[in-house]
Amino acid sequence: SSSTPPAVTSTTCPYCGVGCGVQASVASDGKVTVAGDPAHPSNFGRLCVKGSALGETVGLEGRLLHPLQRTEDGLQRVSWDTALDTAASGLRRIIDTHGPDAVALYVSGQLLTEDYYVANKLMKGYVGSANIDTNSRLCMSSAVAGHKRAFGEDLVPVSYADLERADLIVLVGSNTAWCHPILFQRIARMREARPSARLVVIDPRRTATCELADLHLPIKAGTDVWLFNGLLSYLTRSDAVDAAFVGAHTSGWDATVAAADVDCADPAEVARVCEIDLDVLLQFYRMFADTDRTITAFSQGVNQSSAGTDKVNAIINCHLATGRIGRPGAGPFSITGQPNAMGGREVGGLANMLAAHLDLDKADHRDLVQTFWSSPAIASRPGLKAVDLFHAIEAGTVKAVWIIATNPVVSLPDADQVKRALAACELVIVSDIMAQTDTSAFADVLLPALGWGEKDGTVTSSERRISRQRAFLPAPGEARADWQVLCDVATRMGYDGFDFAGPHAIFDEHVRLTGYRNEGDDPQRVRRVLDVSGLRGMDAAQFDGLAPVQWPVTAAWVAASSRKPEGVSDAVSGAVLDAAVAAASADAPRILADHVFSFPDGRARFVPTPPRAPRHAVDDDFPLSLNTGRVRDQWHTMTRTGKSATLASHIAEAFIDIHPQDALRYGVREGGLARIESRWGAMVARVQHGGGMTRGSVFVPIHWNDQFASDARVGAVVNPVVDPVSGEPEFKHTPVRIEDF
Ligand code: SF4
Repeated sequence: SSSTPPAVTSTTCPYCGVGCGVQASVASDGKVTVAGDPAHPSNFGRLCVKGSALGETVGLEGRLLHPLQRTEDGLQRVSWDTALDTAASGLRRIIDTHGPDAVALYVSGQLLTEDYYVANKLMKGYVGSANIDTNSRLCMSSAVAGHKRAFGEDLVPVSYADLERADLIVLVGSNTAWCHPILFQRIARMREARPSARLVVIDPRRTATCELADLHLPIKAGTDVWLFNGLLSYLTRSDAVDAAFVGAHTSGWDATVAAADVDCADPAEVARVCEIDLDVLLQFYRMFADTDRTITAFSQGVNQSSAGTDKVNAIINCHLATGRIGRPGAGPFSITGQPNAMGGREVGGLANMLAAHLDLDKADHRDLVQTFWSSPAIASRPGLKAVDLFHAIEAGTVKAVWIIATNPVVSLPDADQVKRALAACELVIVSDIMAQTDTSAFADVLLPALGWGEKDGTVTSSERRISRQRAFLPAPGEARADWQVLCDVATRMGYDGFDFAGPHAIFDEHVRLTGYRNEGDDPQRVRRVLDVSGLRGMDAAQFDGLAPVQWPVTAAWVAASSRKPEGVSDAVSGAVLDAAVAAASADAPRILADHVFSFPDGRARFVPTPPRAPRHAVDDDFPLSLNTGRVRDQWHTMTRTGKSATLASHIAEAFIDIHPQDALRYGVREGGLARIESRWGAMVARVQHGGGMTRGSVFVPIHWNDQFASDARVGAVVNPVVDPVSGEPEFKHTPVRIEDF
C-alpha cells in the first residue's frame, strides 16, 4: 500500500571511480529515490550531483528492450534464441575460417567485475585470442603500465583515508572538484579540520579544483615529465632523498637521476619549458621536499598522453626517492575514471593482461590460468589495444567485433575512423541499454542489456574497495545481464566452463583464481597483491550480504585466528573484515607497508623518463592545442545523465572554451558558434570564456555527440596518437584551428 515505506537497497554509484555507496528505494508509484549510504567507507553518506540525480536516469525512455537483427529492411526484432544463434554462429564461422585473432571484444569500465571476468575468460581461455580491450584503455592504462614498471604489479599504494592523513596533496591533471567530487569534498573537509595541510594543483586550466589550492601550476600540456624530472633533480640537491630507503628497497637510482639531470637539472629551464613562473615552480619543489606526508594524486591529464606512462613513472620516481610510499598519508595515487576500471584490471580486461593481475607474456602465469580454468586454449601474446583494434577492423584483419557497454563512435580518438571501421566490419554485435547510440547504428545484432539498478554484481573503486551493485528494479522488456549473454554465446560456440548459477558463482571463481598458487612459503609462487581468496565460498545469500571490502583479503589472513573476530567463518562479510583490519592496523597502509615489491628481488624500480613533447606540435595551420575532459554533471556519452533535467541545468550544451584574447585573435565570439578542425576531423559548438584557459589552447567536453546535434563529437577531432607503452590515446593535446561558424 502507499503507506508502506519503500524497501531500501544498498548499492554503488555507477559513475566515477570514487565508488560511493547509494541507498535506493522504489516508491509504490515506481519513482526511484536515492541517498548516500552512511555506512559506506567511500562517501559516508554523501553524494555528488550526478549520484543524487540517479533516480532521474532510470526511466525506460530510449531503452533497448528486445534483441534486434539487421535485415534488408533495417534492424528487426528477433527472439533471443535467434539473436544468440546469429552472434555465436557468426563468431564461430569467422574463427574457423580466419583464426581466433579475427574476432574481438571491445568492452567497458561500466561492466561489473563478473561480466568482465566472463568476457575475458571467453576470449583468452576459449577463443584463444587476447583481442579483448576496453574503454579503460582510454582512461588509466598508463597508470597500469607505470605501476607495473615501478612495482612489478598493478597496485595502488594509497587509500582514500590517506588523503585525510596527508600534509600535502598534489593533484596532477585532475579536476577533482568536478570529476571525483566526493573525494574532493573529503580533501576540503580535511583542510577545514587541518588548515596547515596544503593543496597544489597542476593543470593547464584554472579549474574549479584550483579554488581550494594554495598553489596552481598552469603547466603547458604535455610537459609533466620535465616538471617531475626537475623535482627529482631538485630533491637530490636539497638533501630530501631517503638514501636508506633507496638503498634497501629500490634499484635503478643512478641511471634515473642521471637521465633527469640531462634536461631538467636547471629549474629555470624547466619553468621555461612548462611555462610556469619560476617562483611558483620553486615554491612547489620546496613544499614537496619539506613535506613527509605527501600524496601525489593524478588522473587523465597524466594518463591521456603520448608520454602517459613516463609521466606516471616520473611521479613515482619522486615518491621512491623520498621513501614516501607504503606509509600513512604518503604515496602516488592513480584516481581512476570509471566505476569499475579497477575491477576490469583485476580480471584481465585489458588486451595485454591475464586475469588476477597476471601477465600474458609470462609462461608460468599463462599455465596457471589455463590450468585453473581447464580451458582448451590460452592466448599467448597481447591482443590489439583499442586504437589499433579499430584500425585492424578497418583493414579487415579483424572481421567481427562485439562491443559491450561503450560507445566508441563517440569516445575514441579519430572517431570518424571508427565509423569507417564498423561500416566495413563483417559482423558487429552491440550490447547496450540504449536503442539508439552513435555506435548501435552500425550493429548487425543488437542485444538489450541490464542497466544500473537492474544488474547485480561487484565493482572496485580507485582505492581497491570491492562494493556490490545490487538490483532493485525488474529487468525491463527482455533485457538480460551481460554475463548471462556472454555465457549463452560461449555455450552456443561449443565451449564448456560457462555454466554459472549466478553472479556469486562467477565472483567465487574469480576470488579462487586470485589465491590459486599464491599461498605458502614456496619461493616459486607467484606473488600477487590482488588476492581476495579469503572471500571464497560465498553462496548467493552471503554474496548478497557482502559489505564493501578493500583488497587484499588473503585466505591466510582470514585464517589467522588472532585477527579473526569470534565466529567468523572462511566466508566472511567485508564489514567484519574491515572492522578487523581497522582494529589491527589503525594508522597503517593496507599494502606495501613491508616495502617488499613484486619483483623477484623485492625492490621497486626507478624508471628513467627522458622527456619528449607531444607527437604533433601546433603550427601555423593548426595553432591551438585542444584539450578534452569532463564537466561536473554529465557522464561519458550521456546515455544516462542526458535524461536528467537537473543535470542539464548545470551546462546544457557542448562548448569550446577559449581565452578571450585568443577568441579576439581568431575572430570567434563568446556565445556564437565556432568550428574547430584538426587534420583528422571537425566539430561545432558554442564559444565560451569561463574555463580558466591559458593562451594557445581550447577545451571541449567529451560528452555531447550526434544524438544531440550534428557535428558534435569532439572525438572526431582528436589525434589518434597513443602512448607507446600503454596504448592510451593523447586526448589532452591535438593541434587544431578555430573559426566562426
Ligand atoms: Fe557517484 Fe562519483 Fe559522485 Fe560518488 S563522486 S556520487 S561515485 S559520481
